Amino acid sequence: APRTVDQRRLDEDAAEASLRPQHLGEFIGQQASRENLSIFIQAARGRGEALDHVLLHGPPGLGKTTLAQIVARELGVGFRATSGPVIQRAGDLAAILTNLQPRDVLFIDEIHRLQPAIEEVLYPAMEDFQLDLIIGEGPAARSVRIDLSPFTLVAATTRAGLLATPLRDRFGIPLRLVFYTAAELRLIVSRGAEKLRFALTDDGAEEIATRSRGTPRIAGRLLRRVRDFASVGRSPDRPVDRVLADAALSRLEVDKLGLDAMDRRYLRRIAEHHHGGPVGVETLAAALAEARDTLEDVVEPFLIQEGLVLRTSRGRMLGERGWRHLGLVPPPPQPG
Ligand code: ADP
Repeated sequence: APRTVDQRRLDEDAAEASLRPQHLGEFIGQQASRENLSIFIQAARGRGEALDHVLLHGPPGLGKTTLAQIVARELGVGFRATSGPVIQRAGDLAAILTNLQPRDVLFIDEIHRLQPAIEEVLYPAMEDFQLDLIIGEGPAARSVRIDLSPFTLVAATTRAGLLATPLRDRFGIPLRLVFYTAAELRLIVSRGAEKLRFALTDDGAEEIATRSRGTPRIAGRLLRRVRDFASVGRSPDRPVDRVLADAALSRLEVDKLGLDAMDRRYLRRIAEHHHGGPVGVETLAAALAEARDTLEDVVEPFLIQEGLVLRTSRGRMLGERGWRHLGLVPPPPQPG
């Protein structure tokens, strides 16, 4: 029933929130972004001014929301969160903006899904801290200008390329988040286990880390699932080691590279139906019954980074490593 699904979703959100780092110093990885932010935050604090607007872009689960919250905390200002698809009318955005206190952080997730008409409201707000609203309709309509408190917009998007150029240009601090290294994820997993008061050996943490698709959200989820498996049918004092972690992850169908069932369906589709490609992303999306956006935002970035898939001008191709991962031999190059 939908209720149970919703409840599970809420539980997952709460579990995630409990693992969120609270300060920049606790935030592991993303060194370049972290160092830049730290400097800009100190400078803004020193001047007593609002921090310049920040655009965080990168695949889901890499810490964009977490960083936005940290920015507000480090600045010592309030934090308001909303998202592109939630803002339906210009008035919704106006209500949020007029309620901000000086130097507050407004976080807009999925900013690429903001309607163009609402983007127009955002431009003068970002640039001059002013709102231009049209009141009334027809000949009686008039425009009013409202002054806003200076604020910092922290916006998140899975792909900066989806943003209109004038919007993108209004962010003084664009930061690209990258997939985490296994060593960073290992640290995140170990700290997560401590927070969950769950005994995990170093090699157990490493096993989870290397199978988390470079993504802290996935690492946290796998950690909680491994803990579930471990808590059933064994002596509770025995720490979870690599063998136990591996058994749990295999039951979750997470393979050695961290790929899940969807990733493998995607790779197999290109191998078996398109001889390794090239094949267009629309064709793949239709065949796999997935939204094209999901493939581009969630599935492909990691597969591409790992060299399993190549993005060419003619479409997606299976990389050498993709063939090997499926246990297949790449076909010889086509003559001509
Ligand atoms: P995004 O907004 O990019 O989708 P989130 O900020 O919601 O990602 O991060 C997802 C989860 O991953 C968070 O709840 C947090 O527990 C964890 N997380 C993200 N980045 C880090 C990090 N650098 N260190 C530790 N945990 C992190």
